[in-house]
Amino acid sequence: MFDWLEFDNSVKQGYEDQVKQLGEFLRRYIDKNAQIRELSLFDKPSKETLDKIEAMEIPAKGRNPMEVGEELVNDVFEHAMLIQHPRFYSFVASAVSPYSIAGSILTDIYNPHAGGFELAPCAGLIEEKLVKWMGQRAGYSGDTIGGVFLSGGSMANMSAMVAARDSRLEPEEFFKGTIYFSDQTHSSNEKGLRIIGFRNDQVVKIPTDDDYKVRIDLLEEAIVRDIEAGKKPFAIVGNLGTTNTGSIDPLEEMGAIAKKYNLWFHIDGAFGASILLSPIYRNHAKGIELSDSFSWDTHKWLMQTYSCSTLLVKDKSNLLNSFTEHPEYLADVNSSEHNDSWDLGPEMSRPHRAIKLWYTLQATGTDLLAELIEYSFYNANLVKKELEKMPGWKIISNPSCGTINFRYEAEGLSEEKINILTDTISKEIIKSGFAYIVTTTLRGMKTLRMCIINANTTEEDVYKTLELLNEIAIREAKNLR
Ligand SMILES: *Cc1c(COP(=O)(O)O)cnc(C)c1O
Repeated sequence: MFDWLEFDNSVKQGYEDQVKQLGEFLRRYIDKNAQIRELSLFDKPSKETLDKIEAMEIPAKGRNPMEVGEELVNDVFEHAMLIQHPRFYSFVASAVSPYSIAGSILTDIYNPHAGGFELAPCAGLIEEKLVKWMGQRAGYSGDTIGGVFLSGGSMANMSAMVAARDSRLEPEEFFKGTIYFSDQTHSSNEKGLRIIGFRNDQVVKIPTDDDYKVRIDLLEEAIVRDIEAGKKPFAIVGNLGTTNTGSIDPLEEMGAIAKKYNLWFHIDGAFGASILLSPIYRNHAKGIELSDSFSWDTHKWLMQTYSCSTLLVKDKSNLLNSFTEHPEYLADVNSSEHNDSWDLGPEMSRPHRAIKLWYTLQATGTDLLAELIEYSFYNANLVKKELEKMPGWKIISNPSCGTINFRYEAEGLSEEKINILTDTISKEIIKSGFAYIVTTTLRGMKTLRMCIINANTTEEDVYKTLELLNEIAIREAKNLR
């Protein structure tokens, strides 16, 4: 028989022990984070650690929970890539706000259900207010602004495509629908379209110009060609900060095309929408007010822990049309005055992700976050300025959204050898543990990509990183000749 009393006592003891242990872990994390600049970027797990975990079984009788906690911190968390490190320049990674961590811990402790508004009305109100506020940053207005917090840009982009499809196509036209975006668009858009049932040939990739922005002339040409061929163009996706180069598509012109052909206009702002907070740089996003929807990952530039992304729509009826179901078991908990998030997106049970962002915005204020955005632009420009003084280095993409691509074109090396060299430089700097820079490929050229959006990255970090890159490049170029 289940001994409830014994179980209850062990849970009570568990709370007492864990509060103490979690406090110690938090202290340990804060101390570590304070000296993160001195740490290697990746303290990889040893073979013994991996073997130990591999050999572990799920026990029939529980173990000492304190021991389990220690094990998780020492073996698991301490051996993950430090992507919040100030010299981690890959992906789209920033430092994490302590307020996001606090908000996240509180959300986990209280664990409110974020599916229905009435289950946690004040938390629901916070999500509603944030959605409205984020939409307003883009120039959306009125009571129709809507949206939903989701796990990431991938889910946000996919959900936007569901709304786009349902608002512009009849079900019997789905097989004829076509979607357009540039060849620099994040893979999640294509993946999302595949998940919701579109074939690869329904996705049209438009070439980009020298700044890696979509070619508007070719975009319109493709749409016209497909209409003439009897297809049904229904959506275009613009980029506000591509992952490769931080490029921003000509959003105003895309908006005009969307209007002309009655297409849904989605903007992938997973990376770049945060520039809306900067009075200096938000004009780079001009045209976003013409969109029907956009995605915004605050777990990228706005220092949130995973996962925190938002899909914003100009008219929330489009989300409600696509995502509302009324099962009998929810009849008593649907809210009449507010929207329930299970009617606005694909998820039902989910954490209240808006809380940690709210915590961060309240505690930090938008001025400081705007300065953080501007600082990222400054740092990427600093990289460019320094590289221009260093012989052999060539800028491949100009700084945009704190991101720059470049490579070392040693004299006398063939294109093929330069590609090999670029790969080697990346591998060597990663091996050094000092900085983390990976390559990407732009028009067939391997390049080194630096995304510098971490608030803790200093000018000195930038100088030292470039110095090390230069040393490695000169040495490795010699080896290749
Ligand atoms: C990161 C990113 C995504 C995917 O977002 P996730 O949060 O990783 O799912 C989509 N688009 C762009 C431009 C991105 O940078």
